[in-house]
Amino acid sequence: MVLKLPDVRTDLFNDWCAGCGDFGIEASLQMALAEMPIDINQVVLFSGIGCHGKIVHWTNTFGIHTIHGRTLAFAQGAKLANPGLEVIAIGGDGDGYGIGAGHFMHAGRRNIDMTYIVHDNGVYGLTKGQASPTQRLGEQTKSLPQPNINSGVNPIMLALSAGYTFIARSYAFDTRHLKETIKKAVAHKGLALVDVLQPCPTYNDIETKAWYGGEDRKDASGRPISRCYDVNKEGHDPLVSQGTKEDEIDAKVQRIFKLSKEWGDRIPIGVFYQEEGTPTYADRILGRIPSYLERPPAKQEIFDATKKSIVDLGKLGEELTVKRLHVT
Ligand code: SF4
Repeated sequence: MVLKLPDVRTDLFNDWCAGCGDFGIEASLQMALAEMPIDINQVVLFSGIGCHGKIVHWTNTFGIHTIHGRTLAFAQGAKLANPGLEVIAIGGDGDGYGIGAGHFMHAGRRNIDMTYIVHDNGVYGLTKGQASPTQRLGEQTKSLPQPNINSGVNPIMLALSAGYTFIARSYAFDTRHLKETIKKAVAHKGLALVDVLQPCPTYNDIETKAWYGGEDRKDASGRPISRCYDVNKEGHDPLVSQGTKEDEIDAKVQRIFKLSKEWGDRIPIGVFYQEEGTPTYADRILGRIPSYLERPPAKQEIFDATKKSIVDLGKLGEELTVKRLHVT
């Protein structure tokens, strides 16, 4: 049941630079939330530090603007405490693949049922355009005195090796594609990554909107030939289920590796990988604490009428490992 549609907070001044790809991501997210059969009062957005972080201020859901690189830590904690929430974490490429890289990797091992959207623009926009972890080796965006001496990380393969069960890439100004990708990610049962290619017109003067859109190369009728193409429309099947044979998975992973490295004239977007049937973290907890979904931490009383704590940590310990340790 949809109780309330998200909309733009008109009481707050939006200070993203004109032409920033963040606008496309914000619009796509709001459209996706409006079109999905979810209760907007149960949606919580988390953001980190960077230009992307303001998105939680301008979307009319619950939202928490967290600290640098810790978006996933906050978001996972909220989802574990209250599994009924629809949790969407939002980060930047510097925030998520740099300082937050440890959280990024370990989140994949848990497969918590939530979505992570990364604004990927190749620079640290908020701090004047230093090279971010996804900036490619040898690139020299306008703030750099010399070309980047580090190789760029590959978010698709990082996520695949970490255990994310839904991995997609989209483009900020293809709002229809991004909206549909976000909807698929939110509907997926497990941890979903949407890496969003996002022009930063202020500091990234290489991967610009005109470049992504192919304004520098036109067809016979003078129309630009966009660099982004949809891998799923070109036959890539991302689905891996419990019955998929090992050699099929190997072939799929090899294809994803190839696709994830494709850059320049053609840039793949779409769903690269979707694994169905892998237990979520809630499923795994249920194996130990059968009452988890009925009485998750956020729904438990912690004080009695006299404000005295009634938390029984002893019982929790017994249910987890203490009892076993005592027996053995
Ligand atoms: Fe957008 Fe770049 Fe401006 Fe940040 S610095 S708001 S990423 S254009």
